Amino acid sequence: MGTSVSVGKTSNARRLTFGGCTTCVLLTGVLGLAALSGCSGGDDRPAGQRGATESSGDGTDRFTVAGTGDFLLHKVVTAQGAADASARGKKGFDFDPMLAQLKPVISKTDLGICHVETPLAPPSGPFLGYPAFSSPPQIVDTIRWLGYDTCSTASNHALDQGEPGVRRTIDDLDNAGIQHAGTALSAEDAKKINMLDVKGVKVAQLSYTYGTNGIPKPAGKPWIVNVGLNPEKIIADADRAKESGAEVVIVSLHWGTEYQHEATAEQRSVAKKLLGARNIDLILGCHAHVVQPFEQINGKWVVYGMGNQVANPTANTQATHEGIVARLTFTRDSENRWKAQPSFVPTLVTASPIRVRTLSQNSPNQATVSSTTKVVRSLGYNVPLASPQK
Ligand SMILES: [Zn+2]
Repeated sequence: MGTSVSVGKTSNARRLTFGGCTTCVLLTGVLGLAALSGCSGGDDRPAGQRGATESSGDGTDRFTVAGTGDFLLHKVVTAQGAADASARGKKGFDFDPMLAQLKPVISKTDLGICHVETPLAPPSGPFLGYPAFSSPPQIVDTIRWLGYDTCSTASNHALDQGEPGVRRTIDDLDNAGIQHAGTALSAEDAKKINMLDVKGVKVAQLSYTYGTNGIPKPAGKPWIVNVGLNPEKIIADADRAKESGAEVVIVSLHWGTEYQHEATAEQRSVAKKLLGARNIDLILGCHAHVVQPFEQINGKWVVYGMGNQVANPTANTQATHEGIVARLTFTRDSENRWKAQPSFVPTLVTASPIRVRTLSQNSPNQATVSSTTKVVRSLGYNVPLASPQK
């Protein structure tokens, strides 16, 4: 976490407001103490004219990013969340014990990025699984506790519960102080750049999905979820993010073929186009539910798929119990451009009780460490393992 913001469960990156956002802003004081500044009251300037005065900027030349895969809250996973809550004398769900091993690696990273694949339900349910998910919103408390700063929400399940599901997910993330990209509740919100202040560096996260399982968008609301892996559109959004002051643009993509480690021809071609553009710096992929490789294109990195962060560990396919924390260290090169060095922490969901384990070369479950390492490096890049403790 370095010298960045640390207030209770709050996360590292400072919240910026762009495009008239009325959510709250965390500003870091000169001694590293954070103060809640209250709501911004909105900024009516059009996108592109904001940002220049937003960042206090401490001139860092290094920051770290962690990205993770899908939260798949299958029935057995929610049952474990309920059992863990009741063991702590609480009602409802508590997903902290299940995901606690991720806390060191996420909270010590300057920018934690998660993916919320499924819409969130009302607090008392009903909670639904495949094919039309509605997941316990209590997971957001754990997302915050782990140290995530922002989440992508564009996925093939984004419209499973229609507009109310999109609204609940956005409201719950907003209320927890977690930024997000990929879905929106108005045309105006959809135009906003999801901008984070990471140790004084402005970083934008954008999010898109290949589709929504054939569920149409509500009439007259084309902006509700970013659908389509359209390089021209994504590059135009990234250009706008850089014009708004972003130094680094991270694109989260929901793509690929489920249960297939190999990146598809479409993934590789889209990655080539996006990273060939000057204003996109990193791609973090989700959806396949298994780990996919890293590839370097035009000096930048695509992480094709990060597997599941949590899912049913008793499902038949062992590979769906496996995931990674993709860790990127950004430093400035001699021409003052940001360059990323990749590494990864393998993860494994184990049963009885259901727990997400972070693995290293010295931990048990070496079979997972080797198989995951093999997949991550399968396109020929010798991406190193990172310590789960930092
Ligand atoms: Zn998906």
